[in-house]
Amino acid sequence: MKIRLLPTSTRDPAHLHYLTTFLVNGEVAIDAGGLGTYATPAEQSRVRDVFLTHSHLDHTATLPIFLENVIEEGRDGPAVHGSAATLASLRQDLFNDRAWPNFVELKFGERRLLHLHQLEAEKPVSVHGLTITPVEVSHLVPTFGFVIEDAQGSVVISGDTGPTTRLWEIARAKKNLRAVFLEASFADERADLAYRSGHLTPTTFLREVVKLGRRDVQVHAFHLKARWSDRIVAQLAALKVENVFVAEIDREYVF
Ligand SMILES: [Zn+2]
Ligand SMILES: [Zn+2]
Repeated sequence: MKIRLLPTSTRDPAHLHYLTTFLVNGEVAIDAGGLGTYATPAEQSRVRDVFLTHSHLDHTATLPIFLENVIEEGRDGPAVHGSAATLASLRQDLFNDRAWPNFVELKFGERRLLHLHQLEAEKPVSVHGLTITPVEVSHLVPTFGFVIEDAQGSVVISGDTGPTTRLWEIARAKKNLRAVFLEASFADERADLAYRSGHLTPTTFLREVVKLGRRDVQVHAFHLKARWSDRIVAQLAALKVENVFVAEIDREYVF
């Protein structure tokens, strides 16, 4: 399984990250924060399924741009998968004709611009040789982490989350778990803000790694708020945990 965290800074893309999108095998996107500004329309067109963790803008911001870029004569647009709450937000807050035209109802000729597909917690979905299982995590709004599996192994992408439990119960039970991508949004000095907004700091990040209880699994930190990313990187390094890394932006990980 190939996983890439798409870059979103035009000046310092290796270190600064603003909007979340992971590409899986170039065909499936987890979140659409930076999907619509990635590469070319032709490359974006390979993505036929977008799984949204939740409705916050850093995860959905360029979904409309992506959907516009991949419009093609003679075929329907991609499937956009999310919880009932996330899909309701897309309808009410994004595709409402004010923020963006109502792409849910608009058509290109006879073709749909997208299909909305509702996810249920812990009900796996199979797409492009992958099995993707949404698991509820702990954030300001209903949010899923995803367990992504193929024949070789599985990878967990946490979504935005504060301290959580169910995701680790499920991850621990996966014998073939290869890697976890876990958010680390704020530096420890902002622990109050992290707590109130349902995010992690390096200290609480480490507690989640302990809950996972698997030293044989790589844990890659992502979603480092750009304003404090140097501090977060330093604090993660100071943890001195051998299986904890900062996710490299735009690297193609192969698991
Ligand atoms: Zn969020
Ligand atoms: Zn976020």
